[in-house]
Formats: sequence, C-alpha cells, structure tokens
Amino acid sequence: MGKVKSFSAKVAHDLSDEGKLMCPVCNTEIKRVKIVKNIKTDGTWRPQKQFVKVCKCNEADLMAGKNI
Ligand SMILES: [Zn+2]
Repeated sequence: MGKVKSFSAKVAHDLSDEGKLMCPVCNTEIKRVKIVKNIKTDGTWRPQKQFVKVCKCNEADLMAGKNI
C-alpha cells in the first residue's frame, strides 16, 4: 500500500518532454543540441554549455558559429 511507484506515469511524462517538435516554418524536426559557447564573465572568457533548438531555419547559422 502506497509503495507502488507510478513508473508508467513518469515514463509517459519523460516521453512527452522529449517528444518530437516540428517547426511550423520549415516543417522539419526541431532538435535540441548541446553547444559550448564562450561567454565573457568578469573580463574572462569562459566556456558555457547550453542547449539550443535547431531546425532548418537556424541550422546553417549555428554551423557557421553565429549566435542565435
Ligand atoms: Zn524551422
């Protein structure tokens, strides 16, 4: 009693979080990509990891190293 974890509910939640997201503009899948950017903090450039959403709209810009 009360020890049953709602495992299936958790999986369903994770799947909805990671579900495919389609770009309404270019109609391709939006992928979440981890990139490392150098951010200037207190006069020092530090690498900072962040996730960006990439689809055909900004893929070329991202590959060219532009900030989005
Ligand atoms: Zn797009």
